[in-house]
Amino acid sequence: MKPKLNGKTAVVALGGNAISPKGQEDSIANQFRRTRESLREIMKLIKVGYRMAITHGNGPQVGNALLRVELARGKAPILPLGICVADTEGGMGYMIEQSLQNGLKSAAIDREVVTIVTQVVVDPGDPLFDKYTKFVGQFYSEEEIKNLAKKNGWKVKEDSGRGWRRVVPSPKPLHIVNANAIKKLVDDGTVVIAAGGGGVPVYIENGNIFEGVDAVIDKDLASAVLAKEIGAEELIILTDIDQVALNYGKPEQKWLDCVTADQAHEYLHQEHFPYGSMGPKVKAAINFIEWGGKKVIITSIEKVEEAIQGRAGTTIVRSLQ
Ligand code: ADP
Ligand code: MG
Repeated sequence: MKPKLNGKTAVVALGGNAISPKGQEDSIANQFRRTRESLREIMKLIKVGYRMAITHGNGPQVGNALLRVELARGKAPILPLGICVADTEGGMGYMIEQSLQNGLKSAAIDREVVTIVTQVVVDPGDPLFDKYTKFVGQFYSEEEIKNLAKKNGWKVKEDSGRGWRRVVPSPKPLHIVNANAIKKLVDDGTVVIAAGGGGVPVYIENGNIFEGVDAVIDKDLASAVLAKEIGAEELIILTDIDQVALNYGKPEQKWLDCVTADQAHEYLHQEHFPYGSMGPKVKAAINFIEWGGKKVIITSIEKVEEAIQGRAGTTIVRSLQ
């Protein structure tokens, strides 16, 4: 069946728990099972006719990739962070792509799905390169990591009382390489999986040469850039919580149904949304609306169908009617 396309284009950003189920052993079988479950919910958007690009996080997967590099030291070549991100874009893209292809086939919906290993352009002069803000890889004891840091030239930090980890910069994404090709595919009805893990950060050298850099890009911020560059109307950020809250986890906590980008901006400055979790989602929402996007939804996979009808989740818009 050739499906109807309802005219709306969305970028759907899948959070960690769409692929790695919490509280279960981290195995590929479990990741596949969870991905299939998650994609069943995404199918509901496809059934109502959305054109779509899908992005996804890769925190646990890139952590595992870095662990393998450590364990194979002296036996197999060292992989720089950019290659690890590209590998996870491919491997996770394959999982998501196949899960969706099989779901679409079972539902007799004739839409193609492709994965694009995505580079994302950053500014080499971005001051964020001096700030080592993103934790990557596994936890170590202080003694262990200080040795590794010396040997590998890592920067390391203590992660909220849980142990020591490597930290890397997280520059601002400026442009999605191949955005134009992604747009053509999406406009044509193909579901494109892109900018996995935020994409591989690259900068442009001597005016026209791409060069990779050891950093990671926030997947929510990259999703907003992708949404802008393919002319999407909606950015749908799916995470493990149904709504965004003010005073999250405090007695005066208040769930947000619909807010303007200006209100969200104010709340962000009042520090309602931490840097390592809800902060980049709200920032991505504000950016996308400022760049001309119509609507951002932040919700859980389970609530996405209700959320697109305005019955669940947190919606961020330019102005309230
Ligand atoms: P993802 O893998 O989807 O990017 P994150 O863990 O980075 O997920 O972000 C989602 C988490 O943000 C939620 O599980 C929640 O615990 C946390 N969070 C922090 N502040 C807020 C807030 N103000 N409202 C809702 N959730 C919040
Ligand atoms: Mg996150």
